[in-house]
Amino acid sequence: MARRGKSIIKGIEIDEIITVLNKAYADEWLAYYQYFIEAKVIKGIMKDAAIAELTLHAADELRHANLVADRIIQLGGTPLLNPNEWFTHTNCGYEEPKNFDVVSILKDSIKGEQCAISIYSQIAEMTRNKDIVTYDIVSQILADEVEHEEDLQALHDDITEFIEDIKKNMR
Ligand code: FE
Ligand code: FE
Ligand code: MG
Repeated sequence: MARRGKSIIKGIEIDEIITVLNKAYADEWLAYYQYFIEAKVIKGIMKDAAIAELTLHAADELRHANLVADRIIQLGGTPLLNPNEWFTHTNCGYEEPKNFDVVSILKDSIKGEQCAISIYSQIAEMTRNKDIVTYDIVSQILADEVEHEEDLQALHDDITEFIEDIKKNMR
């Protein structure tokens, strides 16, 4: 990393930042693929609304992977080079879609977002007042993950309420 950019990082080891960012990088790729494939296989009531949301989130996760990779390189590190490493470095794992119905898919995704929120808030705590640039990047990503959870939960609640209404009217 270039000298002046490095000199503003204080009270934290650069290698430690690179390690946590690489773990987040693995999470982002797995999250990207999870949304990508969920949007393909999802079935059932109001699935078009869900597909629209999942597709937007996939694009956001890929954008996050980009931001994190660029920061790792700026810090003098190397982003994970082999997709096999995504599974050994991930914090949040990969939730393989088992049940393709809209409600199950949304529940899987909400779980992933909750994990992402925990991880990015930890990295924000860790870098606050120590590495301002990483702190700023992870804070932006954290705001997106909070929005993702909110969007998915709202959609999940609308759909489950709609299903309940249909059941009531059938009685
Ligand atoms: Fe993300
Ligand atoms: Fe997300
Ligand atoms: Mg959204």
